[in-house]
Amino acid sequence: MGHHTADRAAPWGTMGVEARVLILMEPNATRSQIQAVLAMLDQAGVRAVLQESPVATSILAPHASQALRAERLEPMGGVSRVVPITSPFKLASADGAPGRTVVDVRGVPVGGPGLAVMAGPCGVESREQLFTVARYVAEAGVRLLRAGAFKPRTSPYAFQGLGTEGLQLLEEARREFDLGIVTEATEVEVFDQVERTADLIQIGARNMQNFALLKRAGRASKPVLLKRGPAATLEEWLFAAEYILSEGNRNVILCERGIRTWSQHARNTLDVSVIPAAQQLTHLPVIADPSHATGRRDLVIPCARAAVAAGAAGLIVETHCQPERALSDGPQALLPWDFFQMLDQARRIRAVLVQDGPGTI
Ligand code: PEP
Ligand code: MN
Repeated sequence: MGHHTADRAAPWGTMGVEARVLILMEPNATRSQIQAVLAMLDQAGVRAVLQESPVATSILAPHASQALRAERLEPMGGVSRVVPITSPFKLASADGAPGRTVVDVRGVPVGGPGLAVMAGPCGVESREQLFTVARYVAEAGVRLLRAGAFKPRTSPYAFQGLGTEGLQLLEEARREFDLGIVTEATEVEVFDQVERTADLIQIGARNMQNFALLKRAGRASKPVLLKRGPAATLEEWLFAAEYILSEGNRNVILCERGIRTWSQHARNTLDVSVIPAAQQLTHLPVIADPSHATGRRDLVIPCARAAVAAGAAGLIVETHCQPERALSDGPQALLPWDFFQMLDQARRIRAVLVQDGPGTI
């Protein structure tokens, strides 16, 4: 593990992810020009390594700070180009893949031009509840049903999900309505059974840094939906994805679901800007969960629209036939007709971006 020491020591939390730079010098750069760049880095407190070879001279600054941007270095004499070096997220990194990744979830492409929608109740409560919701979700043309059988609840006294029985009901719903199943694995102990049932295994926000669970997900045969932790930075989120990818599972979908801020009007704060920011850094698809991001039915639709407008490749949204009777997350569940309206608007917004071509999304 010796080779990891340097990375572990790096203060990721305080530096920009693009901050590691490689400064390529002109072939005819003079000694004094090279010295000037090194002196400048030294003055900025940045450790740098001079790399000289018969063909090229470059300076590697692996721990450059945010303040040290290309604009400061590029105008210096003898400097040819300043390139951000390979990101610390080796497998999740956008420059580590030829294009954007499209994850196939039971025939539904996530990360392609279309809007991938996953919808359903927060939890499986009964056959009647699940089938009622599954029926209108399928009728709306949505092909992925979300519902937790194992629920990670803030209070130990709250409804914890139907467990194994919930998984059986989800399998019945898949057969009955031809829907793919999105459901959560809350801990390593239940992973095997969730993996058998799920078409997309959800790793919940609270588990984003449960490294044992992430590693298990990395060995799963099914794609993984990785929610962003409520207090996780973009870097931490991508490192969590890296845990899954590095175990061999390359089918990872990222989901922004709101973060903890000072706002008290909503359950969480939807971090809209992280959607395009994440897409710049990673080739993995990024979707949004406006339900947990807001916790309030009246805010779900506007936030769903905002997320899609910002480039989210899909939405995971909670809907319930009788929200007032829901055993979990009733206040944020969309009623059927609200859900149809959200779908229609979100699909139209997505179509505008797709029409306008690459660069817009
Ligand atoms: C959920 O999807 O029901 C859930 C618990 O989400 P999160 O992990 O984002 O809170
Ligand atoms: Mn929920």
